Amino acid sequence: MEKTANIIEIFSSIQGEGPYIGCKQIFVRFARCNLSCKYCDTPFKEQEFCNIYLNKPEKLQNPISTEKLMQIISNFSQMPHHSISFTGGEPLLHTEFLSEFLPEFKKTFPKIKTYLETNGTLFEELNQIIENIDIISMDLKLKSSTESSIPLDKHKKFIETALKAQKEIYLKTVVSNKVYKEEIYQICELINSFENKILLVLQPVDSKNKEILLSPEELLKLQEKFLKKLDDVRVIPQVHKFLDLL
Ligand code: SF4
Repeated sequence: MEKTANIIEIFSSIQGEGPYIGCKQIFVRFARCNLSCKYCDTPFKEQEFCNIYLNKPEKLQNPISTEKLMQIISNFSQMPHHSISFTGGEPLLHTEFLSEFLPEFKKTFPKIKTYLETNGTLFEELNQIIENIDIISMDLKLKSSTESSIPLDKHKKFIETALKAQKEIYLKTVVSNKVYKEEIYQICELINSFENKILLVLQPVDSKNKEILLSPEELLKLQEKFLKKLDDVRVIPQVHKFLDLL
């Protein structure tokens, strides 16, 4: 039987975060998340309709089948895209769906890379679909932004799973002026426990709450602290918001 998933939206835009900033992507945003980060501003509740933004906005009844998603993606693929981004929520809550969809997608669109945006906690689920994932953008969840301890063990197993499968992975963490010293130490220790050089992206928090925003000086100082222990640490803000893009 065909698998289905509750999908919030499907659209084409540029990647606005991390080292692939500016690459044209098809975004598939899945509903549901296994975490509840304090400063989360991503809508991930299940929706009755999936919003599709192609030539004109369209609504489709949820849940969406893998076959239907392939049809929708075929319409988007008339424009050239660098990759297809599976985002959320947490897309790894939909591994049964993705296990059915990804092999078909890879066969039909061999030139479009598959890009997974994840909170880096569901390592067993990652293992089920990793074969058909090309790039992993993994969020590191800091206590200063989630108000719960960093899920270090899960993050470690997640990175191990990606590296074992020889996949490209980079880490991204949202930083505010509340980052604890202890968190810097824990993250550096986690990254240095791997032989591979792993990129760490510091993404300044974008919030209406001015009290947690970093000043330019604080941001540079924070990067310096990480660079004392790690090889590749880059400050990259969210670009799509400046450009008023989806
Ligand atoms: S992991 Fe992402 S989507 Fe889930 S609650 Fe945290 S910020 Fe929101």
